[in-house]
Amino acid sequence: MQTEAAIDVDHDTFLKDLIAEGLLIPSGTAGVYGTNSVFEKVRLAVDDAATSLADPREAERLRFPPVLPRRHLETSGYLRSFPHLLGSVFAFDGSERDAVEQEARASEHGDWSEFQRMTDLVLLPAACYPVYPAIAERGPLPPGGITVETGGACVFRSEPSEDPARLQSFHMHEHVRIGEPEAVKAWREQWSHRALAFLTDLRLEVFLQPASDPFFGRSGRMLASSQLQQELKLEIVTPISADEPTAIASLNYHQDHFATRFGLVTSEGEMAHTACVGFGEERIVLALLRTHGFDPATWPIEVRGRLWGEA
Ligand code: AMP
Ligand code: ZN
Repeated sequence: MQTEAAIDVDHDTFLKDLIAEGLLIPSGTAGVYGTNSVFEKVRLAVDDAATSLADPREAERLRFPPVLPRRHLETSGYLRSFPHLLGSVFAFDGSERDAVEQEARASEHGDWSEFQRMTDLVLLPAACYPVYPAIAERGPLPPGGITVETGGACVFRSEPSEDPARLQSFHMHEHVRIGEPEAVKAWREQWSHRALAFLTDLRLEVFLQPASDPFFGRSGRMLASSQLQQELKLEIVTPISADEPTAIASLNYHQDHFATRFGLVTSEGEMAHTACVGFGEERIVLALLRTHGFDPATWPIEVRGRLWGEA
């Protein structure tokens, strides 16, 4: 749904306008921005609204830090599918002399990686990753499985881009279902309606479509086409700034991928299935700004009502 206040779709112009307005603060690195209080006010409202989409009697609310133990990431199989996206945490490991040399190189913006050593942590690439090992640690699932509501920073994905909707660091709100295959499938179906209704309430022009993840390499292309064919990933897309509409929410059905890796079993002792619904908070904010204009005070009353309870 377009309003008169809508902004040019061309991402160069859109990005320039966002920066000129102070909504995005460039860092000098592609896909990494600061934001101002207007942007943040909208993002936090989107986060609250996405939280309240889940029934608090059904969903357990869990939060995790923005770093993930490397062991969990390794177990998840992420490096097979997305080696090109991950960022790992390295930290100084050396003598006093090394520290002096490191500083000397760093002060000239040279290469100081020689003095860094891999730690036990990686940068969290998606909000749901810590959930699977945490739930698996408890033992078999309760009857009916479990639903988790989580979110926070998706700290790093190595995908630099000039498109303001393709960030290297962003926030994601996720709902995760772990349980019997049929229950998980039905849950994702139900959430596709719920997520569409939410984004339509925000007066965004949205479409639900099958999609694929950006798997790495030639074998990745095969994985992507099989994912697409089986409709394991659905995306809710809307025009933001690229030529094609951009995904603002994703509904991923992992089948037994995480369950086998982390040992998630149902109360009956069967391998569980998992699914997650992820809302990209910055992308939703950008879609709102593009659709309704840069000043939230002038947005349609229904949209303000949905976000801030204004009547
Ligand atoms: P995914 O884990 O790739 O399914 O992503 C979940 C949601 O996060 C997507 O639907 C997007 O809304 C958002 N998202 C994914 N990648 C990016 C990115 N590079 N920049 C901003 N938001 C993103
Ligand atoms: Zn997820």
